[in-house]
Amino acid sequence: MIIVLKPQATPEQVENLKGMIQEKKLNPVPFDGEERIVIHVLGDTRDEYSKAWKALDFVENVVPILRPYKLSSKEHHTLKTIVRVGDVKFGDTEFVVIAGPCSVESEEQIMRAANIIKGMGLKIMRASAFKPRTSPYSFQGLGIEGLKLLKQVREETGIMVETEIMDVRDVPIAADHVDILRVGARNMQNFDLLKEVGKVDCPVILKRGMSATVKEFIMAAEYILYNGNKNVILCERGIRTFETAYRNTLDICAVALLKQETHLPVIVDPSHAAGGRELVFPLSKAAIAAGADGLLVEMHPEPEKAFSDGDQSLYPEQLAKLLKDVKRVCAAVDRSFE
Ligand code: PEP
Ligand code: MN
Repeated sequence: MIIVLKPQATPEQVENLKGMIQEKKLNPVPFDGEERIVIHVLGDTRDEYSKAWKALDFVENVVPILRPYKLSSKEHHTLKTIVRVGDVKFGDTEFVVIAGPCSVESEEQIMRAANIIKGMGLKIMRASAFKPRTSPYSFQGLGIEGLKLLKQVREETGIMVETEIMDVRDVPIAADHVDILRVGARNMQNFDLLKEVGKVDCPVILKRGMSATVKEFIMAAEYILYNGNKNVILCERGIRTFETAYRNTLDICAVALLKQETHLPVIVDPSHAAGGRELVFPLSKAAIAAGADGLLVEMHPEPEKAFSDGDQSLYPEQLAKLLKDVKRVCAAVDRSFE
């Protein structure tokens, strides 16, 4: 339920109303708008409460929210959320491309990758320091050492960095070393992790679980928003279906639906859907056409030497070509991409 206050409502009246809401064992979450304050009431709301609140002379209206994802829903926030990372804006008219290797492997590899993407005019690099691997015998990531290398990249190149976080204990240190935290597909319903990233002041890319419905995906975002972090970027990365010809089935329909249902920026990871580099091109174009706000793409300076996901990582020159394609498709759908 949302309580829309009149523009002239005083801070004292807002506090009183919050107290009245808390007395009913409900949680008031105020949002300061340009003109007026809106109080979101979370919990088991009832119609009789709404009548009492509506009767207050500083209340403009009380509106029920029917969607289960109260804070992510457009019913709650009709304007789109723009997530700012440095001078980059996700969810605005500008399309954003994040590129980089699957994993941080060494100082030499990560510096080379950063300089390549910098040379192409990109501002944010992806690279995982912590790796969720199906096999315990596969490369597990450099861990904290990898975070330090990412911080070094930031300092020496000015490129911003994003990395996956798997363990609640690593959230504070990761938030201190990188510009964006990523919750990977395998952890989309790790509720403790969602709560923890909800408490830090660092934007979060939340990937869709490989078997998660769109509703479950948005409910996962809801955990982060509810815990206080409003800077959430949704990422469709393909789901598991009966099809085995490629790694995952990119759910373009979900991209369109997420844009329709939520106010959050939506990006697409074509690499983990494709599983092979050639498919990254058509999937990226489809994502832009479907209304995505950005891409998360794997690129490695030498893909054949990559410690993980080499087959789906673009060669540097392929990334350059992809960026040209992105620009053309963006122009066709009235988005800018520099
Ligand atoms: C990744 O981005 O490298 C990754 C592991 O992706 P996902 O969580 O989508 O499988
Ligand atoms: Mn990967």
